Amino acid sequence: MAEKFDPEEVKQACEGYVKKKGALAFGLANLETLERISPPGCGPSSMLPKVKSVLCVGVGGGTRGAWSADAKTLAYIGDTETMAYRIAYGLAFYLEAKFGYRSIFVPPDMDPEKGARVPMQSMKLHAEVAGIGARSMAGDILLHPEYGMMYYASVFTEMELPPDEPMPDNPCPHSSCVKLYRQSGQTPCMRFCPVECLSGSIGNDDKVAEMNYDAHACAEMSQQYEAIPGVLLDTLDAKDPIERGMALHGPENQVIWYKLAIGAGELLALCYECMRVCPITQTAPLSNPIARGAGMRQKIVEAEAAAKAEHTVEQAAEKGE
Ligand code: SF4
Ligand code: SF4
Repeated sequence: MAEKFDPEEVKQACEGYVKKKGALAFGLANLETLERISPPGCGPSSMLPKVKSVLCVGVGGGTRGAWSADAKTLAYIGDTETMAYRIAYGLAFYLEAKFGYRSIFVPPDMDPEKGARVPMQSMKLHAEVAGIGARSMAGDILLHPEYGMMYYASVFTEMELPPDEPMPDNPCPHSSCVKLYRQSGQTPCMRFCPVECLSGSIGNDDKVAEMNYDAHACAEMSQQYEAIPGVLLDTLDAKDPIERGMALHGPENQVIWYKLAIGAGELLALCYECMRVCPITQTAPLSNPIARGAGMRQKIVEAEAAAKAEHTVEQAAEKGE
């Protein structure tokens, strides 16, 4: 018989675990909601039949310095999703080892039967329903008012834990974006996307009225696995050996082979220009690792000062002063 645990205490323990490992946000998505709105065959129970809870982890985006780097460098170092995956993988083991319930790290991968655009599960949907992000005008990238842009990972477990609610308000569009939109008809993310794949409108209530995202244009720009069939087609269509050599070994295409050789991460990134100009990503109070570090150091100083003051009072009491 399974041991009894207090679900709230387990939830707190899981949050403590992931935050200690470096996550910024943690939440549980309502399973019924996910099953109701996921496309057929894409709900959590289609992956883990006896799933009872969906735990979501959010980790911060790149370092402060990454956002100041040039576009080529940012494209390599802007993503931190592998950290989210590592923490979620650890959480699945933690749930099994500490509480004895079967759990899985949810693979953030594409459905092998449905091509390169259909994921097996939507981490974005899990995180949105769990209340740790809301859909933005930048192609539905989730944003958080305190943590800005995050990367997400999920864990399914057969242990029943209490779910959270989605965020009551969407921080996007930021007031400065509304102002720019009223002046120019574009928000910063729309204006600075190098391939113009974002468009939409903001209503009189200053909320998103419509958002359009040309996923194909974005993927061509930033997800180079999409470019590989094109390279192969150019190679097959080449008229002579020189053209064929250029199709395979031209400087831009050489980079694709290089990235394939060093690992898939660099083939799957955003180009980040929409997030580089996003005021929420750039100015959310806890989005900046330098500010987070300063805040933590300040907390330590305050805690030490409080402990010292308490000690002084105790000493004075002992002396009967
Ligand atoms: S990642 Fe790049 S291409 Fe894609 S929407 Fe953002 S700015 Fe545009
Ligand atoms: S720049 Fe950021 S906050 Fe502004 S509209 Fe785009 S996604 Fe929303």
